[in-house]
Amino acid sequence: MSPTDLTRLSAAEAATLLQDGQISSVELTQAHLDRIEAVDPAVHAFLKTMPDRALEEAKAADAARAAGDDLSPLAGVPIAIKDVLATEGLVTTCGSKILENWVPAYDATVVRKVRAARLPILGKTNMDEFAMGSSTEHSAYGPTHNPWDLDRIPGGSGGGSAAAVAAFEAPLALGSDTGGSIRQPAAVTGSVGVKPTYGGVSRFGLVAMASSLDQVGPVARTVLDTALLHELIGGHDPMDQTSLTDPVPPVVAAARQGLAGDIGHLRVGIVKELGGKGFQPGVLARFREALDLLQQLGATVEEVSCPALKYSLGAYYLIMPSEASSNLARFDAMRYGLRLAPEDGPATVETVMGATRWAGFGDEVKRRIILGTYALSAGYYDAYYGSAQKVRTLIQRDFEAAFNRVDVLVSPTAPTTAFKLGEKLDDPLAMYLGDITTIPANLAGIPGISVPGGLAEDGLPVGIQFLAPARADAFLYQAGGALEAALVERWGGPLLDQAPALPGGGQEGGEAA
Ligand code: GLN
Repeated sequence: MSPTDLTRLSAAEAATLLQDGQISSVELTQAHLDRIEAVDPAVHAFLKTMPDRALEEAKAADAARAAGDDLSPLAGVPIAIKDVLATEGLVTTCGSKILENWVPAYDATVVRKVRAARLPILGKTNMDEFAMGSSTEHSAYGPTHNPWDLDRIPGGSGGGSAAAVAAFEAPLALGSDTGGSIRQPAAVTGSVGVKPTYGGVSRFGLVAMASSLDQVGPVARTVLDTALLHELIGGHDPMDQTSLTDPVPPVVAAARQGLAGDIGHLRVGIVKELGGKGFQPGVLARFREALDLLQQLGATVEEVSCPALKYSLGAYYLIMPSEASSNLARFDAMRYGLRLAPEDGPATVETVMGATRWAGFGDEVKRRIILGTYALSAGYYDAYYGSAQKVRTLIQRDFEAAFNRVDVLVSPTAPTTAFKLGEKLDDPLAMYLGDITTIPANLAGIPGISVPGGLAEDGLPVGIQFLAPARADAFLYQAGGALEAALVERWGGPLLDQAPALPGGGQEGGEAA
């Protein structure tokens, strides 16, 4: 098999070939490292790659297989890790200057699991600074480019992980989703991303943005691959106090059931508030097609209303900055990363802290710290933070009522396709508005998936989002798998086969080049 062919395999396909001894993890990992070297100068999905270390890990995976060890289903399949997850001995920047040289002394639980399962780690992926943003343009290390159109954003904050997967630089990636940072990048790059139920995957070692909203999850090119990765990283972790004690939901079995076209008597609810005005016509067209397909497969589709969702942006952009302002207080020039003396005047604790935070944080992070500090301040706490928490309860109740009638909810993952780099950079509010479809799930703690729904009128990918009740993540994979199978059949192959060839990447990318 040629190195190019190896990078086009799904993780599940690669895993089967590894199990059958037809390819080695070293070959598979090398093929991805070569692909990264060829196309990443144009895409910039990675902040750092670890070729030598990845190949060592691949060699160890091959050796373990040769020795007949009992291996995880994904053993030997390489993975990319969002730079928000602590990696022992490897710089973890969170896309920020303030952590430019921070080398964690431990692995995040999910990273530890990935290593224990013998998935070679290709590198750390780019992200908006401290996961604040929807475009990866707020990275202190320059933006990532959308593989479908290099002048466009790959989504955010996890644009690096989604672009790495969509550009065939990695078959699997990890992301984090506080308000959509896994799902929206998946949507605009034509890949699959899942935000698990809050507490379903450990947050230990995930650099905290807003602890009550943050969740780690899988990114890949197929629903089955995200399920396989979900199963690997999920489960109880005593190191995370919000970790659920439930077993991991049967996501792989559900994905396979869906892929076989079996959606049983699935009841699908269209969320009235997540569509219509402000949504791009091409996005809505693909959404309607997805609904037709689900109905053809035997699902019932009805409209449901979640009226409190109209307040979700307001609530999110108070709760998230409030928690972030508190979480980011730990970057005080004493404990982590950067430490700068003031340009003039005496160096005291306060002036060093001030100079370091001024130089170390970018504009978006400062904006949110100021907003959060204001919302939490004595005179305003009840009016802003307190009200936002009440709205959060209303949103949870709306979802509960909806899930009394249907099994899953469906909406476009994002109101538009990928916008141009720079287009919304000077207009934070316009950027925030695009999060309307993804943030309700985080506010309610429920799981969500984004699967490719086709191309809009501008030739760019559209994502279809499913939401399920807390702990019912399996429904996402069943519905997502069924839609994926039906659409791939209609397209005559995966959507990403239609993506243009990338500079440096040869001609294998498809027609649109
Ligand atoms: N785009 C959202 C924000 O800017 C979500 C970010 C995230 O999920 N980390 O806050």
